[in-house]
Amino acid sequence: MHTGDASYIRQLNRKIILQQIMQHKSISRAEIAKSTGLNKATVSSQIADMLGEGLLLEQHAEVSSGGRKPIYLSFNGSCGYAIGVDIDVNSISIAATDIKGKIVAKEIHSIEDSGFLAVEEKLKTIINKMRGTLPESKYGMIGIGIGVHGIVDNDQTIIFTPQHQWRNIDLKRSMESFFQVPVIIANNSNLCAVAEQVFSSESTNLACITTYSGIGMGIIIQGMLFQGFEGFSGEVGHMIIEPEGRTCTCGNKGCFEQYASEKVLLQEIRERIGRLDLPLEELHQIIEKGGAEVEEVIKNYTTHLAIGVNNIINILNPEKVIINCEIFSYHPAILEKVEKNLTSIMNHRKELKISTLGKNACMLGASASVIKDFLKTDHIVFSQV
Ligand SMILES: [Zn+2]
Repeated sequence: MHTGDASYIRQLNRKIILQQIMQHKSISRAEIAKSTGLNKATVSSQIADMLGEGLLLEQHAEVSSGGRKPIYLSFNGSCGYAIGVDIDVNSISIAATDIKGKIVAKEIHSIEDSGFLAVEEKLKTIINKMRGTLPESKYGMIGIGIGVHGIVDNDQTIIFTPQHQWRNIDLKRSMESFFQVPVIIANNSNLCAVAEQVFSSESTNLACITTYSGIGMGIIIQGMLFQGFEGFSGEVGHMIIEPEGRTCTCGNKGCFEQYASEKVLLQEIRERIGRLDLPLEELHQIIEKGGAEVEEVIKNYTTHLAIGVNNIINILNPEKVIINCEIFSYHPAILEKVEKNLTSIMNHRKELKISTLGKNACMLGASASVIKDFLKTDHIVFSQV
């Protein structure tokens, strides 16, 4: 406990003032003092520091109601840039955002060689290239956030990625020594949850379920990411929902992701109609058209997905449950089918919704995590980008 420590209180006041400014397009010193309850001298001193650091812009009001024209403050988003990366199974997505979370550049690169050294080399090349395209700014590239589809411990070491079979890899230290900026390595679902909180939800209690090739979940409790004892929380893809069910890569049988991942749904539809090579666009059309065979697969899928979602809601009692799954974005009716299965009186949640951030979520969460560290604040809210 640091109460009474002057520098701690100063840091706390800075966070409060910064959050006020970030939540408003522009705000005066007097308005900040009024809304935060801090005295004017404290506000002015902190503002002077932040102006000196280039984090704020001052603007004189055009019209005055008499007396001195008020001076408005706004957050200077273009004083630095964060890089957010999503290392997926077959591709690397990368985005640069300004420190207001606005995407200024975005690219997707395919992974030809999924060996760690090849991917690391590729990361260095594409990040360097994007860094070179960033506009001139006071701080330049402030840091890099990287989401991996696997288990990352509290020390940000990559413990295991099932798709690429990477084990015990210290990508953080290697990238930090190469780029000389702070680097954050995190699980992709955790970063998706951070993105939902920062970019599209005021909720401080949410569960974000990502279902693509596997299933993961990021948990925000009381505004903070819950990561568990070692950092491995949210591995809901490996909840057993069918005793003696399908064999999973984790070594168990009947895991949730063997029944309710997007990959499984698409594969089962392809198998049912006897066209294993059916392109995604045609598959969307087939789902849209419906028909007994496809409906049966979807019913089986939504039943299993609802079992998992039911369990998650009962454990967490989240305000919002957000599902990040590309197929749901195209076919929102599938979510309605899931919701119809959630009939228990114990299923308390305010909202079950489809992510509007989709495949950008991991990159945006990575970027937002870098910005939080840079600003030394644990709570930021940006408008939808
Ligand atoms: Zn499993």
